[in-house]
Formats: sequence, structure tokens, C-alpha cells
Amino acid sequence: MLKKIILTLLFCPIFAFAQQKDEEIIRKIYDDALTSRASYQWLEYLSNTIGSRLSGTPAAEKAVIFTKKMLDSLGLDRVFLQEVMVPHWVRGKKENAKMLIGKEKTVMNVCALGNSVATGAKGVRAEVIEIQSFEEMALIPKEKLNGKIVFYNVAMDDKHVSTFTAYGLSGKYRRKGAAEAIKYGAVGVIVRSLTTALDDYPHTGSILYDEGSKALPAVAISTIGANLLSKKLKESEKTGKKVEFYFETFCEMLPDVLSHNVIGEIKGSEKPEEIILVGGHLDSWDLGDGSHDDGAGVVQSMEVLRLFKKNNIKPKRTIRAVLFMNEENGLRGGNKYAELAKKLNEKHLVAIESDAGGFTPRGFDIDADDDKIEKIKKYQPLLAQYGIEQIKKGGSGADIAPLKPQNVILIGFRPDSQRYFDYHHTSTDTFDKVNIRELALGSAGIASLVFLLDKYL
Ligand SMILES: [Zn+2]
Repeated sequence: MLKKIILTLLFCPIFAFAQQKDEEIIRKIYDDALTSRASYQWLEYLSNTIGSRLSGTPAAEKAVIFTKKMLDSLGLDRVFLQEVMVPHWVRGKKENAKMLIGKEKTVMNVCALGNSVATGAKGVRAEVIEIQSFEEMALIPKEKLNGKIVFYNVAMDDKHVSTFTAYGLSGKYRRKGAAEAIKYGAVGVIVRSLTTALDDYPHTGSILYDEGSKALPAVAISTIGANLLSKKLKESEKTGKKVEFYFETFCEMLPDVLSHNVIGEIKGSEKPEEIILVGGHLDSWDLGDGSHDDGAGVVQSMEVLRLFKKNNIKPKRTIRAVLFMNEENGLRGGNKYAELAKKLNEKHLVAIESDAGGFTPRGFDIDADDDKIEKIKKYQPLLAQYGIEQIKKGGSGADIAPLKPQNVILIGFRPDSQRYFDYHHTSTDTFDKVNIRELALGSAGIASLVFLLDKYL
């Protein structure tokens, strides 16, 4: 009997009509995204006119003003700023580094890691000890580490098809490497850049010191540099020649600065109190211009609202784009947003984050109860023809993660990940690396998912 009812429902003209209409609306969203240059132009301005947007800098504030102005131009129901105090770390003068073996001096490409303390002009010079894991380090007698520069040479594991999995596994040496090495009396830290590429660009990223502990200066070294240093250390085991490293950094943590999350929304027609959020982060590292990380996510989130307005799609729920400040070296924007959402008793149904680059869409990962995931997975056939291959259980994103205790369905947009870490946190994350069609397919994919979630969840 139940089967009969289901079959009748499936073939009933009303259901077929609804599905046909959904297909038409999704087609319209894609047609518009693929032919409009709006989001690409927004990104061009963010990347080429404003440039890198490290938290607390005047450029980050320019990005706030620019994106608010663009949201204001879309005829939304509400555009507003949310105040948040952010850290203000600056790199200062360019770093210098050399490998020293006897009389041989080799210039090495390094960059200070974000939030690191500086060595200043005196620099730090010491013998190097290569480390493959924290466990290995714990077994080395403390006197062997005392006074040394610890070199974490932990490559991202190429066997993982998702480069984010490999990043997740090696990332702890960048984040916690300095805090660990100081416990053994080390005087500095070098971390192998987190990239799957073999090149000479150092990749920055934030580090965390233990509270109340003394801080060690830390730099990232390019993968070519890391391989060379490692080779020389192995040779020195045979030759007995001492391998030393010298680096100088001039970075500085300045007082916190008042900054903002930028928010725009379309009010829901039936359940305006229920919010579907889509977001990315406005701040970026300073070495490139943050086009992939995360200019792409910012303009895609804005584009979702533009696509809804332009195509006269009237959502039942409130659709909100949130451009978070300070994801990279503090997560203050994401934390502040979740804190205020709780305080204001806002009901977030879903939060989607785009912070994996502006590459060809592959799917979405969902962090929610299994029954909710199963429900959302059913939308996939409607998106299959546009290359959304997989909707599955998984992680979401850093900025929306603080909403988790408020029982929100968290979704991470997942574009192709193969080239992301070539550019991530380095000087080559620039506008020319973003393809207009790949960026637009991402916006359309996210907007279509928002449309289906609003209608059927
Ligand atoms: Zn990012």
C-alpha cells in the first residue's frame, strides 16, 4: 500500500510540475551566473585595487567598505556591519635567511609565520635539527634540542586525493610547532611549507603559542628549500660538517583594531526568523592578494544574493550572506557572529561556507545529523548536470563552525582541491589564478543549493 502511495505521488502531475519548475529555476540561476561578470568584477576590485587584506590593516577596512557598498547596490532588505575587535599582526621588512655550511652560504626563501614574534635585526643563528613528528621529538634527549633551530619537515601526503585531508594532517606542525619546540629549549623554528607543489615560494599561515609561554620566532621555508636543507643535514651525518641556519624576521603584533563582519540579507516571505547563511572571509594573508583564499568565497556569497534578487526568486526563509573578518589569524569574526546569533536568539537553519578556492565545483560536505544529510543528498540529481557530483557527510568551514552548538546544519562547499595548495597563503594567490567560469559555477551551485534548502528543508 505504502509503495503504491509513493508511486502515485511520484508520478502525479503536481510533483512532476514542481520538479520541472525547480529544474527551470536552477537553469536560470546557472544561465545568469555564467553570463554575468558581476562577481568576477567584484573579485577583480578586491584583488587588484584593494589587494591583500590582513586583519587590522587599512586594506581590510577598504574591503569592508567596498563589499558593503556592493551589497547596498543589490536592493536587499538589510545590509549591516557587525563590530569585531581583530588582531593586527604585520610582517614588516622582508625576511632574510641563509643556510651555512662551513664557508658555504646559501640564500633560502622563507617567510615569517602569522602571529610569530620576530628575531629583529640580530636574527637567530643555530644548528638545525630535522623533525618528522612530535612523537619523534619527544624521544630526543633535551640537550640535543637545546639551543637548536627545529626544522619540521613534514610534507603533505600526496596519496590523499583531497588535498585538504593532507593539509589537515600536516598542519599541526605549522600551528603548534613553535609552542612545542620551546619546551625543549629550541631557539627558532622552520616549518616546511604546506603545499603539494615543489617550488620556491614559502607559504605563511597562523601559529599558536601556548598562553603565558615564551614565544619562539617561526618561519616557513619553500618546499625546494626544505628538500635542500634536509639533503644537507643527511650529508652532514657522513661528513660531520655542521649545518647552521640563520634567519631574521621583522614582524610585529600591534594592538587590536576595530573591524567588521559585513552582512546582507533577503527577508524570508513565510519564515523570516529562520536563516540560511552563506559566507566566506574578507581578510587574507599579506603575501598574495587572497583571490582564492578567500576573495572567491566572498564574491560567491554576495553573488547568491544577487542571483536571488535578479531572478526574482522569493525565499521563504531569510537568506543571509556573511563576509567574516579575521578567519586567518584569529577567527574573531566567526566567533563574534556566533556569539551575537546566540545573544539575539537568532535561528540559523543552515550555514554554508565557501573557503576552499574558486575552482570547479565538485560537491558539498555536510556536518549534521544523518537524517538531515540523507534529506539534502536527495537534491543531488537536480545538480548533477552542473558537475555537483557528491553531497556527503563531512566537515564544513572555520567561520561557521562556532555556530555548531546552536544546532545548525553546517555545509562546506567543495570545489576541486588539486591546485588550491599551490597558491594557498603565498605570493601566487592572485587574481590571474581564478577562472571566471569556475568561479561562476561555484556561485551557481551554492545558490541552487540555497534555493533547494529554502524550499524543501
Ligand atoms: Zn581561507
